Amino acid sequence: MDTRALLRALPKVDELLKRSDVSALADLHGRELTLEALREAIDATRAEVLRGVVAEVVTDDIVAWAMGHLADAAKPSLRAVINATGIVVHTNLGRSPLADEALVAVAEVARGYSTLEYDVETGERGSRHVHVEDLICRLTGAEAAMAVNNNASAVLLGLAALARRKEAIVSRGQLVEIGGSFRIPDIMRESGAKMVEVGTTNKTHLRDYEGAITPRTGLILKVHSSNYRVVGFTEEVPLADLVALGAKHGVPVFEDQGSGVLVDLAKYGLPGEPTIGAAIAAGADLVSASGDKLLGGPQAGILAGKREIIARLKKHPLARAVRLDKMTLAALEATLRLYLDEGKLIERVPTLRMLTMPATEVERRADSLARAIRKACGDAYAIELAADVSRAGGGALPMEDIPTTVVTLAPARISATALEQRLRLGDPAVIARIRDGRLLLDPRTLRADEEPEVVAALAAAAGA
Ligand SMILES: *Cc1c(COP(=O)(O)O)cnc(C)c1O
Repeated sequence: MDTRALLRALPKVDELLKRSDVSALADLHGRELTLEALREAIDATRAEVLRGVVAEVVTDDIVAWAMGHLADAAKPSLRAVINATGIVVHTNLGRSPLADEALVAVAEVARGYSTLEYDVETGERGSRHVHVEDLICRLTGAEAAMAVNNNASAVLLGLAALARRKEAIVSRGQLVEIGGSFRIPDIMRESGAKMVEVGTTNKTHLRDYEGAITPRTGLILKVHSSNYRVVGFTEEVPLADLVALGAKHGVPVFEDQGSGVLVDLAKYGLPGEPTIGAAIAAGADLVSASGDKLLGGPQAGILAGKREIIARLKKHPLARAVRLDKMTLAALEATLRLYLDEGKLIERVPTLRMLTMPATEVERRADSLARAIRKACGDAYAIELAADVSRAGGGALPMEDIPTTVVTLAPARISATALEQRLRLGDPAVIARIRDGRLLLDPRTLRADEEPEVVAALAAAAGA
């Protein structure tokens, strides 16, 4: 066919709309988007005709293109993925998955109206802080508490409320970058506190802090090394000593703890990270932590401390700017409630369950995953089990190698890199690691119901 005949053969949008498959498409995606996709498909085909790369105009192909395009466009940008990396608190993949109890609480509260700021006893306005304050106090021993948008805003609020236009003393060993653009010196500047650095990168002594105290000192800040370690010839001042120093000079002490540990993780075979309760017991005036790292809840910043300090924070104008929404509050309250029954805590909070999953269980799951892949994919992959390490990730337990068993795959027909990409672009996306030319799947971060999906994705990705 010559070009003109091909152009004449291009279908009209109106004709396409009469097809039953296209009207089904319009029902699903709406008329506007469907028309747009059909026009784009026709335009793309016209351009190909004009370039001379089309021998025949196939209407079914044009419709199929529009269908694919609509399906892609309808995919949410923020969507679930399968984490096969073994990095438990994976910041880029959304940190902590929520407990079922938290999911139910979010749905309940989000669907309708709620007691967000309403006191049903009095019929009057209430405070959104009440939903988590007693729980945090009970779990940490603090006099008072509140929760804000995330730990970065908790630190900002603490600094602004306690040290604006005053000096805040911090060790040079703790002037860290927490991730992205969150650096302690920057957040200090934004809060209006004047940073007074003491000590050196590897060693800071109590006398360094003491020598820096002036009548203008508003705060002593301690930043817990939740996502880094200074190793070797090092020394930092224990919190209790800073508290004693602060008490002597009437200066409050604020510890940014980061990872948000409420129970002694050493009991479960994890390194004994300091708990919020331990910092409160040591006398800290204020402690902050993330809700979605080791705590295993939603993105939030927990602030616990002395009654008078928390009262100042609640009254500060920034508190309104960094407040939590009802969905997050519901998830946080439900997650904190799980901590009231420590016996069931590990099985209910996914982050803790994954971090503490026994080596034998990971190995058993790796073995069953390998069998399922072999059964579904035949000889498309050379499959082996290998010892490897999972990581806590996300600014938690930085030095900790958590022994794990991974399923390693060498694809027969494509490269491991191509396989990794296919899995990543699939639906649902499966995120995996590559090492030494093999794809690694760590069952630690896979939910049981995700395993069949991983197998299906591997079967679909196996071809040349
Ligand atoms: C993670 C972390 C933060 C930032 O917390 P977000 O909840 O991510 O805002 C601040 N300080 C420390 C020590 C941290 O580990």
